Amino acid sequence: MTATAAAAVATLVVAEVFGPTVQGEGPSTGRRASFLRLGACNLSCDWCDTPYTWDASRFDLRAELTRRPVPELVDRLLEGHPGIVVITGGEPLLHQRRPGWIALLDALHAAGVEIEIETNGTIPPTDYTAERVTRFNVSPKLQHAGDPEDKRIRPDALAALVTTGKAAFKFVARTGADVDQVAALAAAHHLPAHTVWLMPEGTTTAELDTHLHTIADPAIAAGFNLTTRLHVYAWGNERAR
Ligand code: SF4
Repeated sequence: MTATAAAAVATLVVAEVFGPTVQGEGPSTGRRASFLRLGACNLSCDWCDTPYTWDASRFDLRAELTRRPVPELVDRLLEGHPGIVVITGGEPLLHQRRPGWIALLDALHAAGVEIEIETNGTIPPTDYTAERVTRFNVSPKLQHAGDPEDKRIRPDALAALVTTGKAAFKFVARTGADVDQVAALAAAHHLPAHTVWLMPEGTTTAELDTHLHTIADPAIAAGFNLTTRLHVYAWGNERAR
């Protein structure tokens, strides 16, 4: 089979594909973007806002997730000329050794769009992924997410992501103590402060306002950046926005 033919039949397991919208979080906040949300995750955060990608105890994953051909996904992602395509999940790097992933990144790279990967920071990117991607939005999980530390904090993966020179580390926080926890993690894992972003936890504007107010001063004092969740202000907790 030729490479072109292989790409034509390559597939990925998808929860949602949508856009153009805007990137709501992190360094690219406010920029036009399309999103591909892949299925499956290797963590089980208590406050996960996309449990329909992985939680079979609460959702019928056979109904939520669909295997779709990559060329169809690429056409949909490029509709409306977004500047960025965001590949998210779930945990998208679980898919990075599949032919569909390679076909996807090749096609998006050839189309000239920026590619952002949203990852929980527990899986090192392959060299291929690191070459093709514009930015990794890495969101390591703090204690309040619920999983044990040795599952949610993987030093090898964090080191590999730092080494790419393309990682922005985005931490979901509620309290000043959370910011202290981020500072300790950043020091322990050599995450440069200028690449660290603090984001309030919440799926309503009231929750975001409260948590942002609490974490803003400690985050700035620690040398970090701040972000909000712009899409929640625009559309609440609607799916596929
Ligand atoms: S890592 Fe992300 S997708 Fe996975 S359970 Fe946690 S919040 Fe949800």
